[in-house]
Amino acid sequence: MKLVDSAYVSPKTGKRWIPVIGLEVHCQLKTRTKLFCGCEYTFGASPNSLTCPVCTGQPGALPVLNEEALALAVRTAQALGAEVASESRFDRKNYFYCDLPKGYQISQFDRPYCKGGGIALANGRFVRLARIHMEEDAGKAIHDRGDATLVDLNRAGVPLIESVTEADIQSAADAQEYLAALKEILQYTGASDCDMEKGSLRCDVNISVHPPGEPWRTKVEIKNLNSFRYVGAAIEHEIARQVAAYESEDPSRYPVQETRLYDPQRGETRSMRGKESAHDYRYMPDPDLPLVHVDAAFLERQRAHLPELPAARRERYEKQYGLTPTDAGVLTSERAVADFFEAVVRAGGRAKEASNWIQNELLRWVGDQELGLERFDELQLRPSELAEVVDLVERGTIQNQAGRKLLREMAKSGRPAKVLVQELGLEQVQDAGRIEEWCRAALVGKEKVIADVRAGKEAALNALLGPVLKLSGGKANVQLVRETLKRLIAETEPPLNP
Ligand SMILES: [Zn+2]
Repeated sequence: MKLVDSAYVSPKTGKRWIPVIGLEVHCQLKTRTKLFCGCEYTFGASPNSLTCPVCTGQPGALPVLNEEALALAVRTAQALGAEVASESRFDRKNYFYCDLPKGYQISQFDRPYCKGGGIALANGRFVRLARIHMEEDAGKAIHDRGDATLVDLNRAGVPLIESVTEADIQSAADAQEYLAALKEILQYTGASDCDMEKGSLRCDVNISVHPPGEPWRTKVEIKNLNSFRYVGAAIEHEIARQVAAYESEDPSRYPVQETRLYDPQRGETRSMRGKESAHDYRYMPDPDLPLVHVDAAFLERQRAHLPELPAARRERYEKQYGLTPTDAGVLTSERAVADFFEAVVRAGGRAKEASNWIQNELLRWVGDQELGLERFDELQLRPSELAEVVDLVERGTIQNQAGRKLLREMAKSGRPAKVLVQELGLEQVQDAGRIEEWCRAALVGKEKVIADVRAGKEAALNALLGPVLKLSGGKANVQLVRETLKRLIAETEPPLNP
């Protein structure tokens, strides 16, 4: 997609079109129990094992709001600079589906718990939030078992917050940046683990296009995108599809208000159903639940739980540790990584080195089968242990390469550095006699290199370092090797007739 001033340039006509995009993000709150009952929720538990009369919608069962969910929702709102309503209300959103036994979902309609706030993008644009509301998730219908549809109600009643932006987004890249920033905030506040593979973050996109200076046109909704990459691809495809439809000047092809699904295999969106309007759901206040009251003391308590947020942390890393914006960005993109980094520094590791080791080694291990590491926070390595390895390398006890091997071994076995250095024979050789032996061996037959070094081309020495290190099994101290080579070359008698 070609972007000029955020406009889309039609490949067919060269005309400019302005995309108008809004995002609705459903995020699962990381509470111990569900939104209105005491059932615990764990992803992947045996079907229908985590249910009770409330979340399966039995007659007479009464919901009670989970205060932990309210607390996490409020913290999210505070982190996003939104205003929390002192009084909000739960409503029933009526629709029929087999994964919704009550026949309605408890949500918030015209009195959500929070309004306003937003996220600043790097290009200076600000994506405003219209609102965030709390609601319960539905169960799961499983359709791929022959003739039958199976229903698992474990997820029914799991707390969600849905954040809705104003249509301030104009490109796929902006949408992805917004989502990444939102995810960071949700993770930092501890509100959600945002595990998209487990469905704890899902995104709907509203999108339309119009020529510059003209009114907005019909918007189309793309539902249930479960990866940032798909969000980007779906937006790009949909902009191109809508523009092509308008430029065909065939009104029967013009976009209609509808819900579409993105098909990642084919890289396109297709129509799912006509879009419901709010009145189709016959929203009504839920008579089983009292109004939600949030007072100043509650707000203050939640604010006290807010950590330093990613943007502030990035800025501090640049100032306090002298890191580049890129390094600070990588380290703060996940709270677990940022916390780990700071703990390494507290344990005596130098910031720049700690940052390099985390980025070049530790972060690359995520997804490593051998280490069995799916997420960074599962790492079996203490920050003090990384600080120790960094220190061993800095003091020259072990080589950089050996340090990498050692770290990996520590993460794998959980055993201490000192023991492993011995066991794996990683300690650098500083013994002048042995180093001289290797250097002499490496110099044999290298008259050309020797002559070059004598002629003042010190870079020629590098050709000898490899062979020496190889002879030493990678353990010779490089500084000593350099000095020894130079001394040996200086001591050698120059040939009489060069
Ligand atoms: Zn329950």
